[in-house]
Amino acid sequence: VASKETKPEPTIIKVLDLVLGGGNVGVIAGPCSVESEQQILESAHKVKAAGAKGLRGGAFKPRTSPYAFQGMKEEGLKLLAAAREATGLAIVTEVMTPHHVELVAKYADILQIGARNMQNYHLLQAVGEIRKPVLLKRGPSATMEEFLLAAEYILDQGNQEVILCERGIRTFETHTRFTLPLATVPYLRERTHLPIVVDPSHGTGIASLVAPMCAASVAAGADGLIVEVHPDPQKAVSDGAQSLTPDAFVFAMEQSRKVAHAL
Ligand code: PEP
Ligand code: MN
Repeated sequence: VASKETKPEPTIIKVLDLVLGGGNVGVIAGPCSVESEQQILESAHKVKAAGAKGLRGGAFKPRTSPYAFQGMKEEGLKLLAAAREATGLAIVTEVMTPHHVELVAKYADILQIGARNMQNYHLLQAVGEIRKPVLLKRGPSATMEEFLLAAEYILDQGNQEVILCERGIRTFETHTRFTLPLATVPYLRERTHLPIVVDPSHGTGIASLVAPMCAASVAAGADGLIVEVHPDPQKAVSDGAQSLTPDAFVFAMEQSRKVAHAL
């Protein structure tokens, strides 16, 4: 169903002012985790001013350690909805279990399936049953075939609004947190009509590398970017090292726009 042979024209996903697919570059930005009302509202206003049309922020967080901050849960979802009311940004947030799909869908505009859950087939089927777009992240060790088949699990339930997100894979290289393979973008472009988004924040793990990789993703033909931005990255409860300050995000947007209009 994801194949271009089935549907040659690009799938265009529109939520509020966020448009993904069909030649547009839609930008989603915000903190890794929702931490407080002040933090998410400030993030929302700043990323909007820089040109983002979507706001990201995790309320249910898949942390490597069970002792790490696990997210603000429903309270975080309410703060995201309040940030949408204040700014008009489309809300993108992760859902980790089929039991929470209804709850997360009540507040979010786009449901994120995290990299760790790319092959959680019951979760994929559960988000396939709702009628809101799903941003599906590539598993850190998933092949393109596995990635596309994970998307099929959602499509097969009747939900046609799937966004594919390259967020980096695990390789022998330890210099960066993950290795970000940008050939994913033109490769998937040849195979599927679904929108393709890149996450240079998780893909590199290093804030200084994010702006160039945003620009490179745009150059490769990405339909969108999802970028971690925090009002004060040093105080972030998760992923501070890869989070941009609002000013650094403005710079990343400028660099990406230059590429979009290059030559
Ligand atoms: C995130 O978006 O904060 C996140 C946990 O991403 P991933 O699932 O790609 O690690
Ligand atoms: Mn994160």
